[in-house]
Amino acid sequence: MTDSAGIHRIAVLGSTGSIGTNCLEVLGEMRNEVSVAGLTAHRRWQDLQRQAEIFQPRRVVISDATLKDQIPRSSFSPKTELVFGAEAIEALAADDETDVVVAGIVGAAGLRGTWAAIEAGKRVCLANKETLVVAGPLVMERARERGATIIPVDSEHSAVFQALQSGRRQEVKRVVLTASGGPFRTWDASRLKSVTPQEAMAHPTWNMGPKITIDSATLMNKALEVIEARWLFDLEADQIEVVVHPQSIVHSFVEFVDGSVIAQLSPPDMKLPIQYALTYPERRSGIAPKLDWKTAFHLDFSPPDTDRFPALLLGFEVARRGGTCGAVLNAANEVAVARFLAGELAFCDIPRACRAVLDSHHFDPSPTLSELFRQDTWAREETRQWSS
Ligand code: MG
Repeated sequence: MTDSAGIHRIAVLGSTGSIGTNCLEVLGEMRNEVSVAGLTAHRRWQDLQRQAEIFQPRRVVISDATLKDQIPRSSFSPKTELVFGAEAIEALAADDETDVVVAGIVGAAGLRGTWAAIEAGKRVCLANKETLVVAGPLVMERARERGATIIPVDSEHSAVFQALQSGRRQEVKRVVLTASGGPFRTWDASRLKSVTPQEAMAHPTWNMGPKITIDSATLMNKALEVIEARWLFDLEADQIEVVVHPQSIVHSFVEFVDGSVIAQLSPPDMKLPIQYALTYPERRSGIAPKLDWKTAFHLDFSPPDTDRFPALLLGFEVARRGGTCGAVLNAANEVAVARFLAGELAFCDIPRACRAVLDSHHFDPSPTLSELFRQDTWAREETRQWSS
């Protein structure tokens, strides 16, 4: 898990994104204990260059290989190896000189790098929820076989992971994931029909990338998290519940068989779950903001409205059925979100398109990884052609 000097060597996949930049802030405070083995970006090479100047990684990867001729080698220090292409991400994740992999690439694109890290038996700080949504059973089984440790970075799953340490597995009654409810929590159904991308991009509590922000507005993000929790914690779908909690301070809770509910609370900021995944089982004071108990505040909870936010029902259904459903739902949603942002679909069409594609797909209860990639491709094409 460390080099000869006891230093953790960390690769950050997707270092220029929302998780990646938060992660580097955390790593900046841990300079004596960690070294950065590698950083990867898709196209934002200037951001990557600035990060490389500060962290002096052994290797940087730009996954879009078409940029190869446009980036002068002199942009990066001679001590930093510069490589191109998606395969280079997998190589970095599996490298002998990488101990810990932070999987921060959004969407199904993040699956291969995460898979490579698991194959190589690394500690994986998992922020890419699609890995478990698409291939949960395969990923968890492979991690067991390879001795890889998966520590969740998603705030809800980090909360559950922390709360689970209060009891034994067989003592868990259920897991309750909190949802902010997104920017349209209080909007009625008729108003939801005319939501614009600009309105959907204004999230009340979390500052995140565009895809996950739209997913938060439809509650598809919570649907994907239900599926993620089902595989990560080996729960039955009916052991998972969702509650709307607009303040995003209670990040989730676990209810044990005796009725005790153990929650994890902190201000909504990704630096804490990222840091916890890096330092687990230890805790550090760290740079994440802390709750202020000298100011009055309240915490509200209410059940979600699945009539207005039907995406949530898709999440529970897919968690129950498993198989190819997660890959299909995830792919359909990625394309539907892109089409909404491009003005081609209405906001309420996102879950409708996903429902249609899910219902028409050829279900396989125990697919291989390559079958999942085929279904992903099929579902994307179907969703591109879907019309209301
Ligand atoms: Mg989350």
